[in-house]
Amino acid sequence: MKNILIFTHRPEGHVVASRGVSRCFITIILLLHTLVFDIHSMQKESARRAYKTNKAPDKNPDILHGLCNPGSSCYFNAVTQCLAALDGIRYCDEKSPDFLIQFNAIVSCLRTGRPVHDILAESCFALQCAEIFENNTGQQDAQQCFSGIFNLLPAGCKNYFEFCFKSSLTCKRCSRTRHCEEISTLVPLCLPSVLREDCDATVTLKQLFEQFENPEKLTQDNTVYCDNCKIKTRTTKRLSFARTRPKCLVIQLKRFYYSQLEFTSITEPIPKKNNIPVIISSQINLGKDRYRLKAIVYHSGSLASGHYVARVQKNGQWFYCNDEWVVPKLKPTKDFSPYMLFYCLPA
Ligand SMILES: [Zn+2]
Repeated sequence: MKNILIFTHRPEGHVVASRGVSRCFITIILLLHTLVFDIHSMQKESARRAYKTNKAPDKNPDILHGLCNPGSSCYFNAVTQCLAALDGIRYCDEKSPDFLIQFNAIVSCLRTGRPVHDILAESCFALQCAEIFENNTGQQDAQQCFSGIFNLLPAGCKNYFEFCFKSSLTCKRCSRTRHCEEISTLVPLCLPSVLREDCDATVTLKQLFEQFENPEKLTQDNTVYCDNCKIKTRTTKRLSFARTRPKCLVIQLKRFYYSQLEFTSITEPIPKKNNIPVIISSQINLGKDRYRLKAIVYHSGSLASGHYVARVQKNGQWFYCNDEWVVPKLKPTKDFSPYMLFYCLPA
């Protein structure tokens, strides 16, 4: 018998054809073989999607899993653990970009106590984050990461964090006061400058809020144009919280600044960090509303090189999250300073 075809599938997947087969036939077989492989990879992809949409059975809501760090993604991991700890917010809708859908899948895993490794590793998720959130100076800042995620959120989800500041500007020349409202996503609290290494220097969150609402004198380079005087005048600015209350109040302790006295070159000031300890309250009152502390991002090191960790509350239990490493009850060492605080209204 001539032209009998004998195909052998070896375990490695190679195809061996017997003699007498035309080249055309071999090409067809190789194409079919590639198709089978494509179907395999599609099946793998659909399995990954099923995983991402939370159909995996093994979950324990009392457990909190860590997030792997393929390289310089601690800022993202710390913020993600905090955002996952906030109740009642879904971070995407059907129109959201892929990044946000993946992000929401990670949050769902963390909330339901399922490991998140596969999503992070397989989709090179952290790499995308680095591309999305690194600012143009190459620094990886937790606050910018939060703002980056916030900016991508569907409009209906933004009011979870958004609130209004009332800004009152009083002209020192004509004494007229004008008011305007500014929408913000976080409360930036300035820290008192520490002139010497004083171990006893501490400040409370309450003091920082009082300082935030104190009138600020805008003089010299900061004078403001007055509609009545028709010139720039010395002005007093006072900020207060308007009536709108977000479900989550995010506070940034402004630790990073540029020195006005020290320069790396003629034009570039040296980035500095204020490490003053801040005593954090478990609860803050805003008018009649009581906010409870749900999550904290900590930072250690300098602006150029440092590390972020988080502490988050899940089902009444506090967890310390340092990338993959998650431990209940543990607190960060003293070289970590609180940097971002997430306070929520009770559900
Ligand atoms: Zn005026």
